[in-house]
Amino acid sequence: MTRGRPIKMVFVDNIGDTMAKKDFMTVKESSALVLLSGGMDSVTLLYYVRDVLNYSKVEVLLFDYGQRHKIELEYARALAVKLGIPSRTICVDLTQFGGSSLTEDDESLTVVTPARNSIFLSLATAYAETRGIPDIFFGPNAEDFTDFPDCREEFIEAMSQALSLGNNIRGVYAPFVNKSKEDIVKIGRALGVDFGGTWSCYHPTEESKPCGKCHACELREEALNTD
Ligand SMILES: [Zn+2]
Repeated sequence: MTRGRPIKMVFVDNIGDTMAKKDFMTVKESSALVLLSGGMDSVTLLYYVRDVLNYSKVEVLLFDYGQRHKIELEYARALAVKLGIPSRTICVDLTQFGGSSLTEDDESLTVVTPARNSIFLSLATAYAETRGIPDIFFGPNAEDFTDFPDCREEFIEAMSQALSLGNNIRGVYAPFVNKSKEDIVKIGRALGVDFGGTWSCYHPTEESKPCGKCHACELREEALNTD
């Protein structure tokens, strides 16, 4: 039997003792990992983490999960290059499970992709731990949870607790979880986000243009046209 690192024991022994947890951390305190989809919310979050929260070192993590709107990854990568931020793409094929119109060519299916955020946050934790990054950020907003149960604040808090108990990260944070998309657009504009360089549509046309009809396109239009 191979002996693992006693991470779990250390955290369980010191549960509630944040100083002990902090002492245990061997990571750089000032680095953050941002999950970047290429959409308006995660792009604004990236600017927010870098410019408002003032993390000195920021990296981004992209997920190629078999989404039909893979074009979003091109937008995310282009932005990372433009900002000079290191990016890494993790491939995890959620088409193995299907059940979502984001991964299957069947628009009668729900847009909810089973366990997507549970999987993404677990993989992000593995990446963050190996990179010595303590803090993980992702960008659900107050409107997401009506469609996506894994965007609820309670879910994120529970995941943050579980992942920090079982691994060497400090936590998972979603600072926009109670913000509307309009609020996020306001924050983004104040921080100089170019929303033309973001992608929202779930069902791009064959010419790689937004369909203008899906729920993501509607929400984007509404948010951008609010003063
Ligand atoms: Zn669309």
